[in-house]
Order: sequence, then structure tokens, then C-alpha cells
Amino acid sequence: MSNDLWPFSTQAIPVQPLQSQLFNGINIDVLRLDTLHPIISGNKWFKLKYYLAACKEQNFSTIATFGGTYSNHIIATAFACKVAGLKSIGIIRGEATKFLSHTLQDAINYGMQLHFIPREKFKDKAAIKNQFTEDVFWVNDGGYGTKGMQGAADILQTLPSEKYTHIIAACGTGTMLAGLISAAKTHQQIIGISVFKNNFSLQKEITDLLTTTNTVKPFTILHNYHFGGYAKHPTNLIEWMNELYLTENLATDIVYTAKLLFAVKDLCTNQYFSANDKLLIIQSGGLQGNLSLPKHTLCF
Ligand SMILES: *Cc1c(COP(=O)(O)O)cnc(C)c1O
Repeated sequence: MSNDLWPFSTQAIPVQPLQSQLFNGINIDVLRLDTLHPIISGNKWFKLKYYLAACKEQNFSTIATFGGTYSNHIIATAFACKVAGLKSIGIIRGEATKFLSHTLQDAINYGMQLHFIPREKFKDKAAIKNQFTEDVFWVNDGGYGTKGMQGAADILQTLPSEKYTHIIAACGTGTMLAGLISAAKTHQQIIGISVFKNNFSLQKEITDLLTTTNTVKPFTILHNYHFGGYAKHPTNLIEWMNELYLTENLATDIVYTAKLLFAVKDLCTNQYFSANDKLLIIQSGGLQGNLSLPKHTLCF
């Protein structure tokens, strides 16, 4: 798909070195995918781009996908489809409420048609798909799948990434991490910080994706930085986000990247890395999710 269709370039994504003693003097660069675009920010564009291309190639006019009330994937899909001239359908977990979240309201404004599915029925994707008689191109929750992984692999092409010894990113479905693993060189260690509580099947889900392209390599998932579970944001997480912003001028989101940066700080403090290591952290975006917080919770 032609890149000039898109309102941004993936060639000039800034890299921000971390400067403060918060990270114990370890050499760390942050890849600011959050700066890509105010709406399709972060990893979601990378994960979607080959699905969009396939949808067009196969002459579908509509993409349908799944997500929650504050889903970065839903908003990114809605906006990307609008730009690509495709219709979009969002299957949303939970009942419709009188006042929609800012995320869903924006998705509607970008032309997405929403369907609400009660939580207990949301797991049965086959049953949901069967309800649709229209011919739509389905994309899994979070863009999980080979095309999502291949798109995420392109993240490492945006910078000279060989110099890093470790590449560290947040994991939801693990699609982005699978892409990073598949694109990494053998001297690089890939670490995923899971934002779900006890999501131990993640290891297998990532390995399954890698197997489809024969790019299986060792990787590490850490499960102890979820702060209570998906989207949970206790006071100590909020305090960390403010501290990080004030010392490093780095904004993070409550669901993924704040937990990622906290994990890296904790690992640095506990001598997980050595002085010669050079870390690349993926700031994968998602800042729109912070709008769910009461005003002035965050200092940015
Ligand atoms: C969706 C998302 C992730 C997780 O990506 P997966 O491929 O599902 O693991 C990480 N960071 C941000 C900001 C996201 O929006």
C-alpha cells in the first residue's frame, strides 16, 4: 500500500535517550512511536498496515474488529479505515452506555459502526462473526495474527537497531513482541512486559505466531509488572508516571507504557543489566487512554 496515503512518515521516528539517575546509569534509548500521529499512534499502525493492504487487495470494502471501551486498537482501526477509504465496524465488549467513552465517540466520528456484545458472549468470536451477513474482512482483537506480527517487525527498520543488546516492550496480545522477536538479530535479547495478570498463555501465543514465519527465537516475558491487572492504575503507578514525566520529559499511558518503564527502572535498580548493555525501549503509544482519568491526575 502506498505510504503517501498516510498523514505521517515512519522514516523519522525520534529516539529519546534517558538521562536521569532513575535508571541507574544504564544506557537506554526510547523509540517514540507515540509521536507517529495523534490518533493512530504507536504500534497500532504497524500492526494494522498489512491487514489494510490485504483487505484492499482482496476487494473488501469493510474491516471489522474487536475491542474494549478505551481500546487503542479500535480508535486506530477507525481512523486508518477512514484514511484508506474503507468502512469499519467495531465489535465492543460490554453493553452500550448512555454516555460513550471518548474513545468510542471518536471512533464513531471517524465513521466506525459500533456493535455492543455482552461480556459473557464476547469470547465466542465464531458466534459473533456468524451474526454478520455482510462480507467483511475480519481482524482479530489487538491485530493478533501473522500480518500483525509482520507489520510490527517493520518497527525495527525505522532506526539503526543492531547496536542494541536488549529490546523491551509492553505486551497485550504479544503481536508486537512477536514482530520484534522475528526482526531481532541473534545477539539481541527481547523482553516483554505483560500488562495482564497471570496471562501465562502469552508465551505460547507468541511462539505460535513466530512458527508461522519460521522465526522462532528465545525471548523473555515478565509477569510481575501488571500493577493489579489490565488497565489497573493504583496511585503508585500514577506517581511514577508523573515522576518520569518531570525527570525525563517522557509521557506514558496507564495501560501499557507506564508499566513498561517502571519494569525497566526496577530491572535497572536490581542489576538485571550490565554497564555495557544498550537498551531500546518501545514507547508504543496509547496516550489517548489517559483521557479516562479525572482531569489533573497527571501533570502532562
Ligand atoms: C496495543 C498496545 C500494546 C500491546 O500490543 P500487543 O501487540 O497486543 O502486545 C502495547 N502498547 C500500546 C500503547 C498499545 O496500544
